[in-house]
Amino acid sequence: DIDRFKEINDSLGHMVGDQLLRAVADRLNEVVQGRGRIARFGGDEFVIICPDTDRVTAALIAQEIISYFAHGFDLGEHHLQATASIGYAVAPQDGRDMDELMQHADLALYEAKGKGRNRASSFNWSLKERFNRLHEIETGLRRALAGGELMLLFQPIVALENGHIDACEALLRWHHPVLGPIPPSEFIPIAESMGMIEAMTDWVLRQACIAAASWPGEVRVAINISPASLKSTELPANVIAALLETGLPARRLELEVTESIFLDDSGQTNMILRELQRIGLRLALDDFGTGYSSLSYLRSYRFDTLKVDQSFMAGISANPEDRAIVRAIGNLARDLKMDTVAEGIETPDQLQHAREAGFTNVQGYLCSRPVPTECIAEMIAA
Ligand code: C2E
Ligand code: MG
Ligand code: MG
Repeated sequence: DIDRFKEINDSLGHMVGDQLLRAVADRLNEVVQGRGRIARFGGDEFVIICPDTDRVTAALIAQEIISYFAHGFDLGEHHLQATASIGYAVAPQDGRDMDELMQHADLALYEAKGKGRNRASSFNWSLKERFNRLHEIETGLRRALAGGELMLLFQPIVALENGHIDACEALLRWHHPVLGPIPPSEFIPIAESMGMIEAMTDWVLRQACIAAASWPGEVRVAINISPASLKSTELPANVIAALLETGLPARRLELEVTESIFLDDSGQTNMILRELQRIGLRLALDDFGTGYSSLSYLRSYRFDTLKVDQSFMAGISANPEDRAIVRAIGNLARDLKMDTVAEGIETPDQLQHAREAGFTNVQGYLCSRPVPTECIAEMIAA
């Protein structure tokens, strides 16, 4: 598969695209020669069939092709630098018939592209397993949202000053009927790639508001908003609808976003964040310190809470570096009048370090694991 062929076609025109395809065909002929047969398979894809070829030789041929591409292509007035991605499968180990071999070579191609293009990948059966799991998760997700397989757990965020629960973070759980529990770190990126994240966020939003409305006192609920959801202009309207329907005051809802939302900021994210703040929600910056940290946005956005990533707390007892970073963040946040949450507190020692760094809050297994909403109501009361 020629990498980014569509871009070449779109920017230089179909005539140049056609010329490139012919030049690639010539070059493949030069490389493969008598070792196999070449066919254009459609679009920018070529298939090469080499009889009596083992995996080592297949890898060699693939590498020769990729090296040959590196010379570039002279097409009249244009000198084009094009690269290729290659996937290969070997009979009979990788498949017994044409269909299966082609399908598996295609999976290997997909892998080569995913690893950054301009390279060759061999099929192997773990690729197939990964693909099957991905496929099951994709089909399962559509059913899960409608069929009540998703559930929210809540983890308390505790004030260091008095030990009270200030807020609880809603964490999504999915029990797949066949695959068992699937962690959010696995299924949320897939939901994003399927365009399902907005519907999912809306579901979480509603369930979290319903739960929080039943808790005593002023305890807030925090939900995680993935960057893809922040691109949806419907988010503020959905938030208002959820607040009105459940009767939860806006000040008791906190949205957690990560630094990655500032990566390709189109102005849209900015607008939506400000609109959410106008409604009266609180904003938290999640996993602070692990993203593409730039302190400039602490100046332009008023975040209410900074949540320091658990990786810093995990090493804090052993590493003076982690201690220095955590202490600096504690000072910074205090001067900017933000609350600070130390995530992933598991030991009394880590708790002590969070105190010494001047954090206002902690969250972690030491206080409580994520639990169902009924348990939270009891914990708050206690
Ligand atoms: P996060 O927002 O940073 O959530 C904190 C994660 O740390 C949770 O993992 C929580 O269970 C875990 N954790 C809490 N205390 C401890 C501790 O003491 N030790 C350790 N080792 N871990 C602790 P979880 O539930 O697996 O969620 C992982 C990530 O998935 C979350 O990271 C969040 O980014 C994402 N996520 C979860 N629920 C949602 C959701 O409803 N929507 C979106 N968009 N993302 C979600
Ligand atoms: Mg979070
Ligand atoms: Mg976090």
